[in-house]
Amino acid sequence: MADVATAPHPILERLVATVGARHVVTDAQDAAPYLAEPRELFHGKARCVVRPGSTAEVAAVLKACDELGVRVVPQGGNTGLVGGQIPDQSGEEILLSLKRMDRVREVDKDSMTMTVEAGLTLLRVQEEAEKAGALFPLSLAAEGSCTIGGNLATNAGGTAVLAYGNARDLVTGLEVVLADGRVLSNLSKLKKDNTGYDLKHLFMGSEGTLGIITAAVVKLYPRPRAMETAFIGLRSPREALALLNLAQEIAGGGVKTFEIMPRFGLEIVLRHAAGARDPLAGPHPWYVLLEIGAADESGETLMRVLEAGMEGGLVDDAAVAASLDQRKDFWRLRELMSEMQKHEGGSIKHDVSVPVAKTPQFLEELYPAVERFMPGARPVPFGHLGDGNIHANVSQPPGMDKQAFLDRWYEMNEVVHAIVTRLGGSISAEHGVGTLKRDLLPGVKDPVALEVMRAIKKTLDPKGILNPGKVL
Ligand code: FAD
Ligand code: ZN
Repeated sequence: MADVATAPHPILERLVATVGARHVVTDAQDAAPYLAEPRELFHGKARCVVRPGSTAEVAAVLKACDELGVRVVPQGGNTGLVGGQIPDQSGEEILLSLKRMDRVREVDKDSMTMTVEAGLTLLRVQEEAEKAGALFPLSLAAEGSCTIGGNLATNAGGTAVLAYGNARDLVTGLEVVLADGRVLSNLSKLKKDNTGYDLKHLFMGSEGTLGIITAAVVKLYPRPRAMETAFIGLRSPREALALLNLAQEIAGGGVKTFEIMPRFGLEIVLRHAAGARDPLAGPHPWYVLLEIGAADESGETLMRVLEAGMEGGLVDDAAVAASLDQRKDFWRLRELMSEMQKHEGGSIKHDVSVPVAKTPQFLEELYPAVERFMPGARPVPFGHLGDGNIHANVSQPPGMDKQAFLDRWYEMNEVVHAIVTRLGGSISAEHGVGTLKRDLLPGVKDPVALEVMRAIKKTLDPKGILNPGKVL
């Protein structure tokens, strides 16, 4: 069966009149890349893929959909991990791709802001900031293909949250097309503006269910003069947390990244990634990738942290990146950890957070809980210790049938989420809810909060045409 419905529908004519036939994709083969995400966990069908090139075109598309009651799924770079950007199986929804909206509208160096369209890739936003001699700090492994609109719609996290905050902290203004085609235009550069409700925060993290983000004013930051990077071997997450505190004390606000990885995660990368090398001479139970932004190239701050860490018995061994290439090699070990798991069979994902102070306890409880539930299953918990956000992935037991393992996805989730909930954490730290976690939400979210969310959805999208079935 084709993934794109062939029956003509009046919406198609309206869309062609709005954006031109070239940008209304109905051919199944051309539409296919939009209808499955790269990990192939989610597949959908759509009436067509529409690719508007301006805010006015997005507004006209939504107006037509509103009038004809057609449901719309917005999509940026299609790198989302919870299925939010993939249409359902009905073949009646249309997929709205923002990828053609990829202009930089303005760089304002004195205000330290940049106005960008939603379809610009995160990498290009970073590059444009760099050209202006500034830094746009949001950074994640999918940055070459994810879009800034998708980042804001999911309130993306990544590896620089410790120092700069989530995506929502990096924005002063938004332009959003509402479900009925009205444009909420608030491309404000203001650092201070207390004129009532801060509406931009409604749309950030709403995963395309309340409006379509077409442009944003993002904040720029001064670039650190130098980056000092170390790959550190240590005994346990307790030492890692103590090292984080020590590094914060010594480096002031300089700690940019603090990522934790277990030995087994590193082994997977070393086994399956071409050219990957262990930076340290011997094995260690846990590793930390530490990055400090410094005012000069002396490397002194990092050395002070490592020396104090060794004296305090926190650091067992460390390698310091002596070149940009070495720094990239260290980062590659961290960034490939999730992807390389596929070579070990099925992997059940958890994107969870707990208060930073509870991260060691979470990791200590995770291993025996998983082992009790499924003997031989192999946890690969890694990620943003500095934010209390761990990607507590679990690889299947060796030799087990992959599908039989994946069939127990939600049961495994229950085991891991029970620990998270008990420790006051969240079952979706940075990837969002989408369809993957939608049915879990009522079990963990305050019922009044859910009522308020539903009321907001009803007000902004009374006909329920914007990304239905996602989040709520
Ligand atoms: P899409 O996948 O296209 O869409 C994501 C959601 O946003 C969907 O619900 C979609 O409907 C909605 N949406 C997209 N664009 C718009 C718009 N303009 N207006 C309204 N709604 C919109 N995420 C992190 O937070 N931290 C990480 O460290 C991280 N690492 C990743 C590493 C890899 C290898 C991969 C594949 C993904 C990773 N992700 C991470 C998840 C993903 O990259 C982010 O969620 C990203 O922000 C999604 O951007 P996108 O443009 O691909 O959005
Ligand atoms: Zn992450």
